[in-house]
Amino acid sequence: MIPFNRTHISENELDYLTEAVRGGFTCGDGPFTREAGGLLREMTGAGHVLLTTSCTHALEMSAILLGIEPGDEVIMPSFTFMSAANAFALRGAVPVFVDCRPDTLNLDERLLEAAVTDRTRAVVVVHYAGVACEMEAIGKLCERYDLALVEDNAHGLGGFYRDLPLGSFGSLATQSFHATKNVQCGEGGALLLNDAGLVARAEIIREKGTDRSQFFRGLVDKYRWVDIGSSYLPSDVLAAQLTAQLESFGTIQARRHAVWRRYHDELASWSAANGVARPTIPEGCAHPAHLYYLLLPDLANRQALIAHLSTRGVQAAFHYQSLHAAPAGVRYGRVAPGGCPVTEEVADRLIRLPLFADLAEADVDRVIDAVRAYVVS
Ligand SMILES: *Cc1c(COP(=O)(O)O)cnc(C)c1O
Repeated sequence: MIPFNRTHISENELDYLTEAVRGGFTCGDGPFTREAGGLLREMTGAGHVLLTTSCTHALEMSAILLGIEPGDEVIMPSFTFMSAANAFALRGAVPVFVDCRPDTLNLDERLLEAAVTDRTRAVVVVHYAGVACEMEAIGKLCERYDLALVEDNAHGLGGFYRDLPLGSFGSLATQSFHATKNVQCGEGGALLLNDAGLVARAEIIREKGTDRSQFFRGLVDKYRWVDIGSSYLPSDVLAAQLTAQLESFGTIQARRHAVWRRYHDELASWSAANGVARPTIPEGCAHPAHLYYLLLPDLANRQALIAHLSTRGVQAAFHYQSLHAAPAGVRYGRVAPGGCPVTEEVADRLIRLPLFADLAEADVDRVIDAVRAYVVS
């Protein structure tokens, strides 16, 4: 079976892991945490980077940092992972779900203004598949209504919108290093801070609400509980794995782009003949080959293609199900005016193909042949 995903072991990974364990500094904020944070700063242009235990936790930190309170509203796409909604619902806020664009599957910026009320505090965007949202229009709207902008950049590390890296638009942006992401350490994440005014409090929130970071820098003579927070700081052992992965980013990306490109080119005529849509990459967007998807005409064909690929030894997957219609989405959230008809349709029609750095050319051949052998009915 060709798996949907397999983790890549980068050149220095096992050496760095050994070094971290032997070095004895296995808790957070050690030498590898600094190393990985520095590499991420270079890659994203972020003013400040804090490694976290997950992207979910970086989103939770964002909700605390923005001072979100019960009854506040936070606009986000319905077509995304539930972590953004959870992070704000945990503060008592109401996630307001907006539909996605039918081309990029990103939050539809044309629907944003109608979702704003006098309780709206923030907008969370997700660059689906690492293809940038329409950041110019979204940035302008956030400015006009004085809304904070958060980028859930879990898919977007290495992606660009015009000349700017994804993760550099929001006052806060979050990364994931979960095993399924381009660069991974099993479970991990980062909070990118592009607003220097948020850094000191972010360090406190990440350290159980204490001023421990300042204590270690010699800025205070004892550390105390000064704010709310939690344990969002990852072990330096995970940071060691992540450092090696980040150093291999070029190698990982070259391979992922090669697979993505082959799918896109070699499935073009099959897609056209079968009424299947391939990803749209707008002018000015450079994506990091995070995932390759196809949009089948309907749910029955999507399910049939997953089953067909499985019998041919290829593991494929569907993706996000509408958050606005999920049990917790109904309970804690609200859907923006006009509903989310595109999200509902795309959730049924989308299939993702295996895409990982170590996918062999012969296996890419097998995936492509298997897809081409399916006839849409
Ligand atoms: C993977 C993912 C997350 C969650 O990441 P964790 O690091 O597992 O918490 C959040 N948002 C999006 C868009 C993701 O793809």
